Amino acid sequence: MQDLAHFIGGRRVPGRSGRFVDVYEPMTGAVRARAPLASSDEVREAVANAVAAQPEWAAVNPQRRARVMMRFVEIVTREIEALAKLLACEHGKTIADARGDIQRGLEVVEFCIGAPQLLKGGYTNSASAGIDIWSMRQPLGVAAGITPFNFPAMIPMWMFAPAIACGDAFILKPSERDPSVPLRLAELMIEAGLPPGVLNVVIGDKEAVDALLDDAGVEAIAFVGSTGIAEYVYTRATANGKRAQCFGAGKNHMVIMPDADMDQAVDALVGAGYGSAGERCMAISVAVPVGQSTAQELLQRLGPRVENLKVGLSTDDTADFGPLISKQHLDRVRNYVALGVSEGAKLLVDGRDFKMQGYEQGFFIGPSLFDEVEPQMRIYREEIFGPVVSVVRADNYKDALALVDAHEYGNGAAIFTRAGDAARDFASRVKAGMVGVNVPTPTPLAYYTFGGWKRSVFGDLNQHGEDAFRFFTRTKTVTSRWPSNVREGANFAFPTMS
Ligand code: NAD
Repeated sequence: MQDLAHFIGGRRVPGRSGRFVDVYEPMTGAVRARAPLASSDEVREAVANAVAAQPEWAAVNPQRRARVMMRFVEIVTREIEALAKLLACEHGKTIADARGDIQRGLEVVEFCIGAPQLLKGGYTNSASAGIDIWSMRQPLGVAAGITPFNFPAMIPMWMFAPAIACGDAFILKPSERDPSVPLRLAELMIEAGLPPGVLNVVIGDKEAVDALLDDAGVEAIAFVGSTGIAEYVYTRATANGKRAQCFGAGKNHMVIMPDADMDQAVDALVGAGYGSAGERCMAISVAVPVGQSTAQELLQRLGPRVENLKVGLSTDDTADFGPLISKQHLDRVRNYVALGVSEGAKLLVDGRDFKMQGYEQGFFIGPSLFDEVEPQMRIYREEIFGPVVSVVRADNYKDALALVDAHEYGNGAAIFTRAGDAARDFASRVKAGMVGVNVPTPTPLAYYTFGGWKRSVFGDLNQHGEDAFRFFTRTKTVTSRWPSNVREGANFAFPTMS
């Protein structure tokens, strides 16, 4: 069995802590590798490496930094099939889905090729007699990113590409459950021309995360994961004087109005609800049909579609979704389905007993569908992160909107309707960060920003888009006057423009 290693100073560095965690192949349930868990000393060494490499990297002009991004896009595009296969085998999602994971990451790297433009400051000539003012964006120093298991390519790229394009050095702490792709991406950044030490990967658990949160050499923390940990990371990072952006869980609702195109809505719901086995923070996990006849029509079409979804191997191109990430998570999702039954929800499709023939040890579960779910039930309030969709019926649009708004999470929300006024009202009033109108998974493209509202986020600036360039830089504003004939004498009053 293979032992994975950290990636520090441009090379693979074996773990020295003596602590390891098994990395699985979810479709077979077999252990495929052991990942080292970094000690706080090992994390400090990685930070010291990044601190040493950063000033020289910050001095490289933005256009040359952008060229590294350009070459990285070419290299990853060349290697996408091998990376997608590795990702699928370690995460469990299908290869087609894994390609999307990599591609959506690359789109942010492509956006970062615009660093020279994005890092331009402002300039005011003759702001006052003989005075010019300009502002500039300067790198922070060293930033760190802590990422979840469910997008092992996309989310690391969303973090390290803008940070590095801004002139920062970066420490990535990927999920210890599927670290192989992030490690490979760091190697490919070196192949693309990044100097060693600018991008480092340490594999670890809470000990490594705490070491990053407490290290004075780290200026900023980007985190994506579950809400409890996001809040913890935000609180500890900011208490230590660091800048932090921490993104948490989702429970995304799809409101289906009586005038919706029902075929379109059902297609959207099965894809967004069950794709990637529901292990997406933008998955639709709640369907809200408005009015009893809408609910009936929806369920008549949805039930058979859910029953016929194809659960398959990660390597099966015809599968709709693959296994879950771990045995522990499989048990958790099964328990949620049992909980829903005990809470009184009506289980229309039960995926708990699904077994993949020949792969009985794999972490597979079939799709489940609940009707008559009530807002006080835990299966509604909590994020299940599995192939389970809850139908919560609403009498009218006002109640549907109030339901979405009352939920503690606010990542995304969608409405399906033909009525422009309802869609417009929903888009402007709903308390969620990303909204779809007849679009089920409204994950914004790279040149917009990604982030939820409410307890789906802790911090101010979103991921990617222009916000990323704000997050990974500091602004400096210079007011300058050169010796000249203009002599004002000493002025003891506060200067104004009056
Ligand atoms: P997780 O919170 O278990 O882990 C995320 C990261 O935190 C990992 O790197 C992990 O090693 C680390 N971690 C775990 N326990 C920790 C602890 N006690 N102290 C410090 N660090 C700790 O999340 P996950 O299961 O890997 O990912 C799924 C979650 O991520 C879901 O809740 C999903 O909604 C969320 N997510 C959110 C977004 C978003 O943009 N809002 C995107 C993707 C995933």
